[in-house]
Amino acid sequence: MPFLNSPRPICSVLIANRGEIAVRIMRTCARLDIRTIAVYSDADAQAVHVRAADEAIRIGPAPARASYLDIDAIVAAAKQAGADAVHPGYGFLSENAGFVRRCDAAGLIFVGPSAAAVERMGSKIESKRIAEAAGVPTVPGYHDDAQDEDSLARAATQIGFPVLIKASAGGGGRGMRRVDRADDFVAELDAAKAEAEAAFGDSSVLLEKYILNPRHIEVQLAGDRTGSLVHLFERDCSVQRNNQKVLEEAPAPNLPDSVRTRLYDAALKLGRAIGYDSAGTVEFIMDKDSDSPYFLEMNTRLQVEHPVTEFITGIDLVEWQLLAAAGEKLPLAQDRIRVHGHAIEARLTAERADLAFQPVTGELSVVEAPRGLRFDSGVEADSRISLYYDSLIAKLIAHGADRDTALSRLAAGLSDLTLLGIPTTQAFLRDVVRHPLFQSGKATTRLIETAFPGGWKPNQHQLLLLRAAACVVWARLDATEADDGWINPWNRRSAVRVTSAVRPAKVSLHAEDEYGEVDAEIRVSRDGVAVELAGVSVDFETPTVEGDTIAIAPAGGGGPFVARRNGSTVSIAWHGLALVSTIRPCIEMPRTDRQHSWSGNAIEAPLHGVVSRLHVALGDAVEKGTPVLQMEAMKLIHTLKANAPGRIEAIRCAVGDTVPAGAVLVEITPLEIEEKP
Ligand code: ADP
Repeated sequence: MPFLNSPRPICSVLIANRGEIAVRIMRTCARLDIRTIAVYSDADAQAVHVRAADEAIRIGPAPARASYLDIDAIVAAAKQAGADAVHPGYGFLSENAGFVRRCDAAGLIFVGPSAAAVERMGSKIESKRIAEAAGVPTVPGYHDDAQDEDSLARAATQIGFPVLIKASAGGGGRGMRRVDRADDFVAELDAAKAEAEAAFGDSSVLLEKYILNPRHIEVQLAGDRTGSLVHLFERDCSVQRNNQKVLEEAPAPNLPDSVRTRLYDAALKLGRAIGYDSAGTVEFIMDKDSDSPYFLEMNTRLQVEHPVTEFITGIDLVEWQLLAAAGEKLPLAQDRIRVHGHAIEARLTAERADLAFQPVTGELSVVEAPRGLRFDSGVEADSRISLYYDSLIAKLIAHGADRDTALSRLAAGLSDLTLLGIPTTQAFLRDVVRHPLFQSGKATTRLIETAFPGGWKPNQHQLLLLRAAACVVWARLDATEADDGWINPWNRRSAVRVTSAVRPAKVSLHAEDEYGEVDAEIRVSRDGVAVELAGVSVDFETPTVEGDTIAIAPAGGGGPFVARRNGSTVSIAWHGLALVSTIRPCIEMPRTDRQHSWSGNAIEAPLHGVVSRLHVALGDAVEKGTPVLQMEAMKLIHTLKANAPGRIEAIRCAVGDTVPAGAVLVEITPLEIEEKP
């Protein structure tokens, strides 16, 4: 036990966090033989981090303010478990000075800096003043106390438009407003102050010159309680969406050494000014064409992107945080810390990259990490992504001797990783990593809007192949029925039958997924399986079944699809793009003579089945072809349509009714009859 004889012994740590960062902290603790205590909300009772810990304590209901932000509950859990220390991770209470003080008062070691450092750097206004006093250049702007409209408007004019209004207490990319014209300033200021008050309980704002083409570069610091403070080089985190990081790398590409030195000096100066004694990050922003970095803010905690620094330095940052908290001296002096190669991290979030990164919820069915890369994850198969917490589910980190190697490893990893069940940003990340703008190492924070004008969309060819493959998966039988792993989907026990296995068979399908819907036709012959959709025919090779995962490949080559089928739903992924498709067979019902027995236009049940949907109400007007109702029989969906224009005269069934073949279900008055005087 390495910290047993430390000035402040640490034998057990409560991790006041969840998800990937909780799991990651526990990994280091386990290696150091430190007992771990997880805390969890009701939404996380089954979460990965709960099972990864030696002990787990429930701290409250799902909403964060009632659990992961509940200081009383967390301190009580730490005392109950007899924890020596508390690690806050990132987010939640990690930069809450009140929490640090409560831990101190309860005799718990806070794995992080002092409450004073957290407090002083927690305000963007105060941290800027401290930076200036320490001789660190800050973004030209205004961060005085006077918060009246006149002072702020005057300052904005002096700075020159565009300016950025920022909430002093803001974070996570929230609470920022860009103002381009003096005329708009006052209205935007009012809105910004109201937002800041609502979101952070503090309406103070600061103003910054809006930098048009910025790079975001940050320096990792590490300090201890014996007074050492070192930098662990820089990270480039310029690729962002909604002012939040998406890809991070170390070292920063295309950065002159003179700028590098200036960044390290500035970060160390600020760290020394506040007696910094833990891991922390000093963030800078610089115009892509300038060589003057400006201080943005300091984060007094472990960052999401810390793994890239760990890769290039070989240092375990959580171990160093624990060492510092235990009162130990950091093991390496500045001149013994070197850069080895290059590392890049991709943040995988449960979001719709095609819909402005709207967060999504749901259940993952498959999580399979690619080999040879670091995969920091808080999820596994069957994990539920709830609406209560951050959308980050995992991080994929690649390391190589140089940037090109790290890049190609990350691109391959983003193709090989399999996440099925809910939309994630995986395919988007893969496209960014392969984009020439990112590859050139000249990314600015505008990369995404420049690389994908109008927003990212999935590759259309890949989408088509995935949809076609989903149809093939849908048509397969249970593995138990397969002889050689693949069986003609039209055989005896299949939902869809053919009279002869020799004659080619085809079935029309309708597939709906997160990117839209499509009609498809699947054909099986002795030569194989082909799916036609959107005017393109795709041929497939023989699928193979392993456990409950099905692998099939397009005949043209290109590696297997990984898929799961659950009833009419198929989850499928290929080269990093995944979708969940709901597939139904479409049947065109021939009209029978009996439908003319009523003077109008009756809809009759074509077979014995259940009415599953009514598309019309009494009195509705219908056109020829308007869907009137839906029936289900033998697992097939039958949509019954009006065959002439008219008005719904009578509805003789209800959803859920079982009806015999030939029953009149809906009567329609033809338009000609209705219009007679
Ligand atoms: P937060 O604390 O919310 O993360 P930061 O001040 O760290 O806010 O800024 C987050 C991101 O917002 C930066 O990385 C950058 O992309 C953008 N940003 C911040 N300040 C400016 C500025 N003055 N000009 C242009 N972009 C900025």
